[in-house]
Parts: sequence; structure tokens; C-alpha cells
Amino acid sequence: MYTFFLAIAIGYQTRLTVEAKAASAYSLRNSILSLKESSSMRLSRFFMPTIKENPSEAQIVSHRLMLRAGMIRQSSAGIYSWLPMGHRVLKKIEQIVREEQDAIGAQEMLMPTIQPADLWRKSGRYDAYGPEMLRITDRHDRDMLFGPTNEEQITEIFSDAAKSYRDLPRMLYHIQWKFRDEVRPRFGVMRGREFLMKDAYSFDADFAGAKRSYNKQFVAYLKTYARMGLTAIPMKANSGPIGGDMSHEFVILAETGESEVACHRDFLENDWLDNIDPEGDLQIIVDSFTDKYAATDDERDPETEATLGDNLVVARGIEVGHIFHFGTKYSKAFNAVVTGPDGTEITAEMGSYGIGVSRLGGGIIEASHDENGIIWPESVAPFKVGLINLKVGDEGCDGACEGLYGQLQNAGIDVLYDDREGRAGVKFAEMDLIGLPWQVVVGPKGVAGGFVEMKNRATGERQEISADAALAQLTA
Ligand code: ATP
Ligand code: MG
Repeated sequence: MYTFFLAIAIGYQTRLTVEAKAASAYSLRNSILSLKESSSMRLSRFFMPTIKENPSEAQIVSHRLMLRAGMIRQSSAGIYSWLPMGHRVLKKIEQIVREEQDAIGAQEMLMPTIQPADLWRKSGRYDAYGPEMLRITDRHDRDMLFGPTNEEQITEIFSDAAKSYRDLPRMLYHIQWKFRDEVRPRFGVMRGREFLMKDAYSFDADFAGAKRSYNKQFVAYLKTYARMGLTAIPMKANSGPIGGDMSHEFVILAETGESEVACHRDFLENDWLDNIDPEGDLQIIVDSFTDKYAATDDERDPETEATLGDNLVVARGIEVGHIFHFGTKYSKAFNAVVTGPDGTEITAEMGSYGIGVSRLGGGIIEASHDENGIIWPESVAPFKVGLINLKVGDEGCDGACEGLYGQLQNAGIDVLYDDREGRAGVKFAEMDLIGLPWQVVVGPKGVAGGFVEMKNRATGERQEISADAALAQLTA
């Protein structure tokens, strides 16, 4: 009898502990999950080595600002580390690119950076690529290389796997570091030697299919850059030995652009992108963008330009992406051949589609800054809000800041909270330099009067409003 009760008692006890443990694990899990909702940061702990003076090695504004805002540091010529501030931006750019690729049915994968030389011997590009290719020998004396691009690799993978016409069409992409030993690496991440690229590859059964894939990428690119606040103009580009009109570079205009480009003035209008209806007939959309003149330096046509008169814009441009149809060049070399419904052989029609993900980090700054620093479009900003405490140690200011900091985080908003002691002027200058879209300033005067100052970094507009109203605006 006694043992019976004892057994029940022990059983009850164990159940209680198990339940209590489960409950506390549950609440721990919830609090971990809610922590992840926003990734906010206190400046007193954040690794953000800003620089006051203009670094002498930087010739263009984006390079200067990226160094000064503590986004990047050079490791060697054209090779950079991305510090937390820069890394956050890079990840946001990458995510926009990813979402728009996924939206058109491209599938993400990841190929290595190091490739065997034999792969490139097969396409004939091992010798053709020249000194831009970083060649490496492994311990067994095998020739390797750091990939400057991945056409060979993807075509080999695809040709090995695809057997039937049912394996077409396919669109694959990855976001991976590339290495090109550029003659003149310069302008920071804009022309690096190591740089991050999204490269997609399409495999289709015929030219009509390849054109559909091309058009999908064309429209995805328009949306991708628009989401980053950029006006990237699709410009007719060199299509190499294949010829045809299926090669476009997406170019943003900036004084610091490396090449001279020309386009119709209409492309500078703010609303030209409104034409995109991704559900519509893609060919019509693409035509509406390509029937207006826009050409990269080696495709410019003086005759057409002469007819444009005042509508001609000649400017410097930064290439932020390139889409390209190259037919069967690689599928022939790698035997990417499938069997058609009637038993005949089909050689895949291919295209490749690159976006300069790390170059965009600089490109967006070239397009969006003022004399005080960077102006991040909200979609790629490292944090949405910079919260400035003007009097750290003051009970009222600390309380108001901690309250707002917590509430913004709970609402899933990324906040950088300047909780360091220091002069107001220094804090303002630094906040302007790093360019977060919104600044919320809390000082003793505001605390006494029941308001905070909210500043829009892009317009410079300031409002004195209650903390609740600021919260409502920022979370709207
Ligand atoms: P560029 O004419 O600027 O040298 P590319 O034509 O050699 O570029 P692609 O092979 O088309 O470049 O690469 C796709 C994208 O990768 C480019 O549109 C560009 O945005 C980016 N990119 C190319 N080279 C670099 C580099 N050295 N540094 C940073 N980004 C680069
Ligand atoms: Mg190119």
C-alpha cells in the first residue's frame, strides 16, 4: 500500500516537473522568437568604426561614405571585409534579389567558388579568359581557379542530370562570391576583385522558350532595382558573336559611372516604371521598354541619336546587371542535350543573368546621398530608425528611450539606439552619416514637454510629436 502511494506521489511529482519544464521551455522559446522579430542594436555595443575625415584613398562618394560609416574595410586591393553595418545592407540587397528571382520561378542553389580548370578547358575559356582569372594549384598539382562566373559549372551539372524534354525549361541561380583579377580595381566595392554576384542560368527547349525566360528576367530586374529605389535603365548591350537583340545591361546614371551611355529622356521620368504589370504579357512589357533608345557605350548609334534632339541624354552609367541570351554555346560544349517527345535530340538554349549584389551597395549610395552622408532607401537600410538619447544618465531621457526602444522592437522594427554619452552635435552628424531613414531624438526638453523630435533623413523634415505618435508613424 505504502509503495503504491509512493509510486503515485513520485509519478505526480515527475509530471509536475516535466510540465513546469515544458512551460518554461515554451516561454523561453517564445521570448527567443520574439527577440528575433527585430534585430535592433545599442550603439554602445555595436561594432561601427566610423571615420570623421575623408579617407584619402577613396575617389568617389560611395567609397568614402562606406569607409566613413564603418560599412567596409579593405583587405587588399579590390578585396573587402563587410563590417556589421555593411553586412546588414548587403543581406537586404541580396534578399530583394532573391525574392524577385524566386517570383519568376528561378530556383536557388549554391555552387562553389573554386572550380577545376578542366571544366574551363572544355569550353575553351581557360586560355581565353586571360589574366583576369585567378589560377590556383592544389597540393596534388591540379589546376584550379577561383570562379569569375559559372556558365561551365552549371551547364555540366545540368547536362549530367537532364535527359528528357520534361527536364526543360529550368531556371537556376545562386548568389556567390566571384573573383576577377581586374587590371584596375577601384571605387571600393564598385569595381572589386572579389565581389558578390547573383547569377542565374536558363535552359529551354527552343528559342521561343529562351525568349520567355529572358523576358521573365528582364521584368524581374526592373522590379528588383525599383524596390531598391533605383532607376536602372535597360540598355541594349553587346550580344557578342550570337548577335540578336537579347543582351541588356541595366544601368544607373551617376557622374561617377565608368562608361558613357545614352538614352531617351523618358527613362529619366520618375513614373516610367509604373508600366510594369508582372501579370501581363511579358513581351509587351519588354517591348515598351526596349522600343525607346538606350544604349551602352559600344552599342551607341549616332544616326538614331541625331534624330532624338532634346530627348537625347548622354551620361555616365554604372552597370548593375546584365542579362544575356547565348544560345547553345555552352550546351554544345557540355552536351546538354535531351530527348524530345518524338525521339529527336534537343540542345538546350541558354541564357545567363547577372546582378552585381556587392556593387549595388556602392551604387545605391551613389544614387542616394547628400553632403552629410548616406540616405538609405527604407528597403535596404541597415536599420529603419536611429534613436538618439541626448542626455544619457538623465532618468527621464533614459526612461523614454528605453520605452521606445522596447516598443519599436516589439513591433518588429530595426532600431539603432545611440545610448552613448557624448555631444549632441557628434551624435547628429554620425546619424546623418550612416543615413538611417528615420531619426528619433529624445532630449530633456522634449521629455518635459511630452514630445520627441522625429526627422526624415531624406527630406530633412522634422516634427515634434508625442512618443506614441512617433511609434504609430513608424509602425504604420
Ligand atoms: P563590367 O563591364 O563592369 O566589367 P561585366 O560585363 O564584366 O562588368 P558581367 O560579367 O556581366 O560583368 O557580371 C554581372 C554583373 O556583375 C555586372 O553587371 C556588375 O554589376 C557586376 N560586376 C562585374 N564585375 C564586377 C566587379 N569587378 N566588381 C563588382 N561588381 C562587378
Ligand atoms: Mg556586362
